[in-house]
Amino acid sequence: MENRINGIHHITAIAGDPKRNYDFYTRILGLRMVKKTVNFDDPNTYHFYYGDETGTPGTILTFFPWGDQIPAGRRGTRQVTEIGYSVPEGSLDFWTKRFHDNKVVYNKVSEKFGEQYLTFLDPDGLKIELTVPKVADARKPWETAEVSAENATRGFHHITITSNKIEETAKILTDIFGYKLVEQHVNRFRFITDAVDTAAIVDLVEAPGERAGHVAGGSVHHVAFRVANDDILMQFRRKIVEAGYQITDKIDRNYFYSLYFREPGGVLFELASDNPGFGVDESIDQLGTGLMLPAQYESSRAQIERVLPALV
Ligand code: ZN
Repeated sequence: MENRINGIHHITAIAGDPKRNYDFYTRILGLRMVKKTVNFDDPNTYHFYYGDETGTPGTILTFFPWGDQIPAGRRGTRQVTEIGYSVPEGSLDFWTKRFHDNKVVYNKVSEKFGEQYLTFLDPDGLKIELTVPKVADARKPWETAEVSAENATRGFHHITITSNKIEETAKILTDIFGYKLVEQHVNRFRFITDAVDTAAIVDLVEAPGERAGHVAGGSVHHVAFRVANDDILMQFRRKIVEAGYQITDKIDRNYFYSLYFREPGGVLFELASDNPGFGVDESIDQLGTGLMLPAQYESSRAQIERVLPALV
């Protein structure tokens, strides 16, 4: 585990209205807001992090909610086109009823690779699946008054990347990240790492004729893969440079250290470390309750708080 890619760290997507996004993910989906901060490149907009109690890597979905003036994105190639959460066996009836009662757009329960799943769209059109994994997911869920442990999401099950041609993306997964191709159905190729038990799956869907997606509201901005610490992050940086890719320097994201590179299928990949974690500026019981600003914006706090819309 120590010097490997340990599955997915987080997924970052783009949303419209911040309050609508907050209400959907905390109330309907029952996630914990583990960090409320700003976009470090644009401090007049929020950056929300949702996850389990402590924001364990592999459970973290983050959003830049840019407001309703953001145009809608379009799913297509060169994108992460699906986000999969794992849920307990027997919970899909609960979720189907919940989506129906709350006017969420959802599909009939279906099955792929022997696992049942329920697809739905968030209020901005982001496509998410709830999958019952073959092997029960032992991660401890965050519970709310409306979503208790027998139904609650456990964190990520998989992501799906859609590409015109998957070959070079597959090579990064297998040759650099340590994933193996384990199953294939028509044009969907399932890759898994055995470094971790959960958030370990990447599906590559090959769609040669399909047009490129547009990354805007309701689409995924990037996916981050997980490493144990920032020393291992830099070991992977060397491997990626040796493979001929351009990659950023190490970036301090306050809650983890990051590198970014564009994989040949067109998706922005990030590598992110477990250290230091979300407890660095709030206690675990207080996570997500305050507006946390990086040091460079603390002196502008009053102005930033005036601009950001209220969530309650
Ligand atoms: Zn990220």
